[in-house]
Amino acid sequence: MLDIEEQGASIKSIETSIVDVPGQVCKSLFFAGCSIRCEGCHNSALWDEKAGILTSIRDITKKLNTDFTDWIALLGGEPTDQLQACISIMKSLPNKKFCLYTGREFHQLDKSLFLPNLFLIKSGRYSPEMKADRSGVLASSNQQFLYKSGNNYFCLPKKKNKLMTAIEKL
Ligand code: SF4
Repeated sequence: MLDIEEQGASIKSIETSIVDVPGQVCKSLFFAGCSIRCEGCHNSALWDEKAGILTSIRDITKKLNTDFTDWIALLGGEPTDQLQACISIMKSLPNKKFCLYTGREFHQLDKSLFLPNLFLIKSGRYSPEMKADRSGVLASSNQQFLYKSGNNYFCLPKKKNKLMTAIEKL
């Protein structure tokens, strides 16, 4: 059986973003594949893992390891469907600050994800019934940003300005 380093991850793209970590420039890694499949998802083109290209963890981390930002966002698709790849990427870049976007609730996440450099988690599935207004950073009001402090995660404010100020301090 191949280990995760050999197996790699199915990814769609790696981009530079000014929105995925609110108030920060970041590198964004889009995983392909999502088993959650929320009604009204804007990224349904990434539901199928075959929408991505199988890429080695070494190549992924090399592209993410840029000098101009400390922040890396893991999005998709559903990154936690490729749990071992997420963990391996975070472990390979211990000096980077990671932000994980997941459609799972915080209590559903595998605790092995909670590495020292996973600073931010945006959790919760997209819900068209709870669609948020477009001025905010959350697509639906049930979703939540959490930040790491010590060994625990705490909820961040949902208002955009307060959220950006709090993230600035991380
Ligand atoms: S978890 Fe994200 S990618 Fe998956 S269906 Fe929901 S909104 Fe779409």
